[in-house]
Amino acid sequence: MAKNPVATYPLFLDLGAHKPTSRDIADTVKRGGIEALTEAERRADEARYQEITCRSALNSVRGMPFKWTLNTYRGCTHGCHYCFARRYHVQFEMNADDEFASVILVKRNIVDVLRRELDRPSWARELVAVGTATDPYQPIEGHYRLTRGCLSVLAAGRTPIGLVTKGPMIVRDRDVLLEVARAAAATVYMSVPTVDDDAWRILEPGTAHPLQRLRAVRELVNAGVNAGVLMAPIVPGFSSSRAKLERTIKAIADHGARFVGCNVMYLQDGTRSHFMDFLAREFPSMRPRYERLYAHKYPPTSYRREVQGMVRALQERFGLTRREDAKARPDAEPVVTEAEQVGFAW
Ligand code: SF4
Repeated sequence: MAKNPVATYPLFLDLGAHKPTSRDIADTVKRGGIEALTEAERRADEARYQEITCRSALNSVRGMPFKWTLNTYRGCTHGCHYCFARRYHVQFEMNADDEFASVILVKRNIVDVLRRELDRPSWARELVAVGTATDPYQPIEGHYRLTRGCLSVLAAGRTPIGLVTKGPMIVRDRDVLLEVARAAAATVYMSVPTVDDDAWRILEPGTAHPLQRLRAVRELVNAGVNAGVLMAPIVPGFSSSRAKLERTIKAIADHGARFVGCNVMYLQDGTRSHFMDFLAREFPSMRPRYERLYAHKYPPTSYRREVQGMVRALQERFGLTRREDAKARPDAEPVVTEAEQVGFAW
């Protein structure tokens, strides 16, 4: 007979109205798997939502062009196969595969915690990157409104932000984004790696259609928000051809984006194993080329330069030459040091 998880893990009984911390969650999952998360609510999308108590809202980071990050949720039901945040889910003793996209931690108290942190006299109002390990506008935000609450607190705290998302729901919050912009600065980076329908369906199964995201960019820009597009990541063999890049950049320009940036996909730890398994399962013929291209975390510098060169040329052609503030980009990469490999063409 199956054990009663609550009887096995009495921690939750002791917490009363308080929510567990992420450490409590990790301990519970380590002992009993995700089935032991008996408080997690299953919703219509079949994902489990586990409310947690966070001790801090702002996370200090090193080696990035910004010092602070803010993530209202952990895990993401958008479930992009290339997502670099997949590897972070192992912190909670969950896998970087299905569990990343179907067990979402909800930081129930994050708005209050953020308010306390910004009220400290020592807070220097440095740039906060929002959405570095999750999508702040994944569908559950419609219910909890934690991202909106945090934006209001950031506006009151006169703190500048850079926010990345694939969620058109951000249009709901254009009023509060403008408040942040008036109080400090706000830049929205809508992630639209490609407008190619096949690549979208294959790689980003839980996201809104790319054109819906671009329409959200247009609405934000029309409202006065500094919003542009990140073609991030460009995925070799799926969205990297010149024709697909051209269609995407033209669509971005047609929707009035204020800037465009790009990154080529990198693969590390759990994200790497998830992506390689996905290829082996769905596109086995591509796997050997990927093994060569991704001998290291990043593809060869020569390959990345080639893709970035194409994007730059197309940006100029479609009048998207204004450079965005790279310091604020929440998807910014650490400095690349891997050995360069040459001779790969895709
Ligand atoms: S939307 Fe962003 S955070 Fe969510 S799975 Fe896709 S890449 Fe990851």
